[in-house]
Amino acid sequence: MSDLEEQVIAQVEKKLFIGGTWKDAASGATFGVEDPSTREELCRVADANDVDGLAALATAHRTQPSWAQVAPRERGEILRRSYDLLMEHQEELGTLMTLEMGKPLAEAKGEIAYAAEFFRWFSEEAVRVEGSFATAPNGEARFLLMKQPVGPSLFITPWNFPMAMGTRKIGPAIAAGCTMILKPAQQTPLSALALAGILNEAGLPEGVLSVLPTTNAGGLTEPLLRDGRIRKLSFTGSTTVGKKLLEQSAEHVLRTSMELGGNAPFVVFDDADLEAAVDGAMLAKMRNIGEACTAANRIYVQSGIAEEFAEKLSDRMGALRMGRGLDEGVDVGPLIDEKARDKVQTLVDDAVGRGARVLVGGSPGDGAGHFYRPTVLTDVPQQADMYDTEIFGPVAPVTPFETEAEVIELANNTEYGLVSYLYTQDLNRAFRVSEALEAGMVGLNQGVVSNPAAPFGGVKHSGMGREGGKVGIEEFLETKYVGIGGL
Ligand code: NAP
Repeated sequence: MSDLEEQVIAQVEKKLFIGGTWKDAASGATFGVEDPSTREELCRVADANDVDGLAALATAHRTQPSWAQVAPRERGEILRRSYDLLMEHQEELGTLMTLEMGKPLAEAKGEIAYAAEFFRWFSEEAVRVEGSFATAPNGEARFLLMKQPVGPSLFITPWNFPMAMGTRKIGPAIAAGCTMILKPAQQTPLSALALAGILNEAGLPEGVLSVLPTTNAGGLTEPLLRDGRIRKLSFTGSTTVGKKLLEQSAEHVLRTSMELGGNAPFVVFDDADLEAAVDGAMLAKMRNIGEACTAANRIYVQSGIAEEFAEKLSDRMGALRMGRGLDEGVDVGPLIDEKARDKVQTLVDDAVGRGARVLVGGSPGDGAGHFYRPTVLTDVPQQADMYDTEIFGPVAPVTPFETEAEVIELANNTEYGLVSYLYTQDLNRAFRVSEALEAGMVGLNQGVVSNPAAPFGGVKHSGMGREGGKVGIEEFLETKYVGIGGL
């Protein structure tokens, strides 16, 4: 590790953040955090268990009433200061993220900016929470509608966007006046701990936020969900775990936001700007090494241009430089772990076994890290396992199609519905197909949809609720109706 890397690791608190204080785990246990590009242990952090979880819950529950009374402007100012601090420390925080997660430094710094933007956006939303007043249709009563914080919230986040998946929940919760507990992914606790440090420095009152890394996710979170004092669960992760958490949330009828898996179709019509479509496919596929819920998982290209598209995409994918994310000029980092890399290889082998052709890549990279070569497959049959499964790696399967009706059916033929991408220059087709796609988001002639000012979320098994945009804060607000009579 370089001096800067060692310094960045040394600066992060490795303890649990409970109610404004850094604490060892109740059990005294710690666990190791690994660099996925070398498999070396970077450091050890405190390992929370249910005792720590319940301590954090007691703090969140105790602090909720006073936090709800803090002026919206003050809550907004805390977020705004946190935005400034995140941007001030973008380089170190990006380095820290690359160390624990593997993505190239430029992308990690990009995520810090994206993550910070949720704080800026919700600092502005904090002072725009509005209720309403109306006269009943028969004129005999008045309706006063007020918005109130939903209450103590539990957040569970994945490793692929270690900072942004946290700020996307913490931002609106602070703006709305909710207290919260964040359980980050086991593989990437350092970004979340650094974030706790920043919010603390920005003046977040004690007890509003706790951050609990753990090696026993279910053992920590299930008692919290079954306790009755948590009122809201916001989860980002796999559909399988999401369904389990929905069952647990049913016991106390919790408000839930579920940001789950995806299986995005990327559709290119023959009237599209081909170069723009290839650019878009590179972004939609390769952002975050392909480890994104929004990753293009099935690329459908109209038959007249399918071959040319696949060749251009292969040239671009083949030119990418793979390596440790902190090394100069690296475009593609390692996958998160061995299991992830084995899964990608199994999916590629299955597709090839069913007749797909490998245009570039198709095998693991060299070295100790979990590298996989950027890969383009063509003529991937519909029956291939990768068309039903999130690949979560740098593999782009391309399949030709003939008609608009056919591709809409193909695109929607999945249990998921997070995002779809569509490239066409025909205006009528653009609207028609956007309407027909079963997805919470559509990228029309663009390969990235994520934007803190827009509502992010899916339909079907991709989840429910929206993060970001004007509706993002609603996930943390209840509507209370006061019926006023006797006028
Ligand atoms: P995951 O296995 O579901 O893990 C996500 C989080 O849930 C982690 O913090 C994990 O802890 C925790 N967890 C696992 N089992 C749990 C249990 N029984 N009870 C409580 N918590 C539990 O997902 P992942 O592999 O980390 O992340 C990739 C998935 O996230 C993909 O499906 C991707 O599409 C999805 N994702 C969705 C969005 C979106 O906005 N829709 C954004 C990003 C990612 P541990 O780390 O300890 O396992």
